[in-house]
Amino acid sequence: MGACQTGASFEPFDLVILGARVMDPESGHDDVAHIGVRNGRIAAVTRQTISARTVIDGRGLVAAPGFIDLHAHGQTLGDGDIQARDGVTTALELESGVFPIAPFYKRREGRSRIHFGASAGHRGARILLTTGIEAGHSLTEPETQVRIQMRVQDWAYAHLKTDELKKLRALLTEGFMAGGLGIGLAPEYIPGADREEVLQVFEEAAALKAPVFVHVRRTASALGDAPMEPIQEMLANAAATGAALHLCHINSKALGMIDPALRLINGARARGIDVSSEVYPYTAGSTLIGSALFDEGWRQRLGADYRDIEWPLTGERLTEESFTRYRREQPEGWAIIHNITDETVDRAIADPDVIIASDGAPFIRGSGHPRGAGTYARVLGRYVRERRLLSLMDGIRKMTLLPARRLETISPTMRRKGRLQPGADADIVLFDPARVIDRATFEKPTTPSDGISYVIVGGQVIVDEGQIVGSAFPGQGVRAHV
Ligand SMILES: [Zn+2]
Repeated sequence: MGACQTGASFEPFDLVILGARVMDPESGHDDVAHIGVRNGRIAAVTRQTISARTVIDGRGLVAAPGFIDLHAHGQTLGDGDIQARDGVTTALELESGVFPIAPFYKRREGRSRIHFGASAGHRGARILLTTGIEAGHSLTEPETQVRIQMRVQDWAYAHLKTDELKKLRALLTEGFMAGGLGIGLAPEYIPGADREEVLQVFEEAAALKAPVFVHVRRTASALGDAPMEPIQEMLANAAATGAALHLCHINSKALGMIDPALRLINGARARGIDVSSEVYPYTAGSTLIGSALFDEGWRQRLGADYRDIEWPLTGERLTEESFTRYRREQPEGWAIIHNITDETVDRAIADPDVIIASDGAPFIRGSGHPRGAGTYARVLGRYVRERRLLSLMDGIRKMTLLPARRLETISPTMRRKGRLQPGADADIVLFDPARVIDRATFEKPTTPSDGISYVIVGGQVIVDEGQIVGSAFPGQGVRAHV
């Protein structure tokens, strides 16, 4: 029995959830109650009897705000459905971003089950400026990706001159004014973006009051204290310009220096710098094998060897020969990099202010990294329930309230998300806290999570007893300034 229709003629709510353990990370509310939903919003959280045409039996389940993923490269309907079954109701592409902005939103209006959005991508703007190619959301369009990768030297290695930097800044402003959720910046993939260019991006962001979502530049080495240097560069830029900074996947960037990296971030925040960071709950990263990340010297920079690189299309670990061949022949293919320790991931997850974000890539031909399918259930099942590294409320807070707050200064709609209280958007996940667990593996990365019973977006049920409701498309674009 799923969300069932009662057929009563007049009901005060459109949908009610009865008897769930309602957890709201903003108010701290954690008690069994009924939830009434009307016109896409939460209208009541109460212990009094309520009714509606659609009734969900929430007994034994936790009701939490839907999870908000700030780092979701997978932006197709299929990627969103896999995420929805992991409890995600809003999936945003903020690290890479897109360029231009308007077509990205237009293409998804009315065709998305979960909420979507993207930042103005420095990468896309730079590709347009240096090659004339309109990359859009290049990561979900393999053909565009091939064209871009084949000309990788054009856009990734060129140093921009003064007048070009001016044009780049104008493009980023244009993207932000078109609704882009801040600015996405990933200098590790763009070795030509020197410190001057990156500082100018921060200056432009500060003038716009737009947050910058950053994948930091290359470290000289994965060993010793070298990984701290690129993190310090970005903190210095934030301090010097006043731009808000979000550091992506602190686990894969800080590596063995996770403790001092977290002290830098938390110390900067305590002294008034607007900085946040995020973690995915896995000890392997993933990226395109043709990207600049794998340029000469990558083994030293990543602290990994050929055998640490997995080619998910076949499941094989690479050798020098197969690595070179795939990089040349399939530069748009995803590689998995096993180079992070459990301890690093644990430290970031246990920090109460580090946001959970998946960094999930588009699943192309069912291949990819399991984080795009299992991040949220994995944190709830393995890190909260099994290992007790953090409380359930803290886990929920890191998946809902914290990511919503990160965006609410530029996108007021986010003030109604990440909360489960009257007035909030009815983006809700119901899960079984005793059962919730990820099932996606490196061999089968699209396997949906278990224990996510219901997912509601804007008051509409999109996951009913664990199954996608194919006819529901309530997902809305999340934009800046609205
Ligand atoms: Zn990244």
